[in-house]
Amino acid sequence: MQAVAENDRMGGAKASDGAGAESSEENAVDRETLGRATWTFLHTLAAAYPERPSVERQRKTSLFMTLFAELYPCETCADGFQEIVANHPPRTQSNAAFARWMCEVHNEVNVSIGKPVYDCSRASERWGTCESCKGHEKELDDFLSIANLPGGAKSKK
Ligand SMILES: Cc1cc2nc3c(=O)[nH]c(=O)nc-3n(C[C@H](O)[C@H](O)[C@H](O)COP(=O)(O)OP(=O)(O)OC[C@H]3O[C@@H](n4cnc5c(N)ncnc54)[C@H](O)[C@@H]3O)c2cc1C
Repeated sequence: MQAVAENDRMGGAKASDGAGAESSEENAVDRETLGRATWTFLHTLAAAYPERPSVERQRKTSLFMTLFAELYPCETCADGFQEIVANHPPRTQSNAAFARWMCEVHNEVNVSIGKPVYDCSRASERWGTCESCKGHEKELDDFLSIANLPGGAKSKK
């Protein structure tokens, strides 16, 4: 609250430690904010998924979703999502299948927390690929390589 009081004293200006730093309250993340940001990421991941993915891409995507469900940094959410993914294994054979699967598992979460079911036939209107993100294949390869993940240059050696 000290930062809020400081803000008031400063007539609405941000409290600062001298370098323009925001207070920890301003930076706090709650379950809803994390959830919205994460669904943006997951639906964008699905929208960008290839029409005809290689077997390796399908394997990595399924593995990613399994690990994601385990590591999601909200404990009750992770517990619930692991169960959802276990009961609805990722469908990764095509862009349409993966985007539909993502919508369906999001709906499973929606139902579990009393939110309305989303019309999955409209999901592709809501979520698209990130145009400004395109053209970063080298960065992705470097990342996979540094993390020593399958697909990176290091692992191809
Ligand atoms: C993996 C995961 C598990 C979670 N588990 C929990 C939990 O157990 N308990 C909890 O309280 N919160 C949980 N959350 C957070 C929760 O799902 C919401 O993100 C949060 O409540 C904010 O909801 P929102 O109404 O802003 O919309 P969100 O559910 O965050 O959705 C964002 C936007 O996506 C669109 N949308 C909604 N449903 C769909 C769909 N099915 N397909 C495509 N687009 C859709 C809508 O335009 C919506 O505004 C979880 C989040 C994630 C990512």
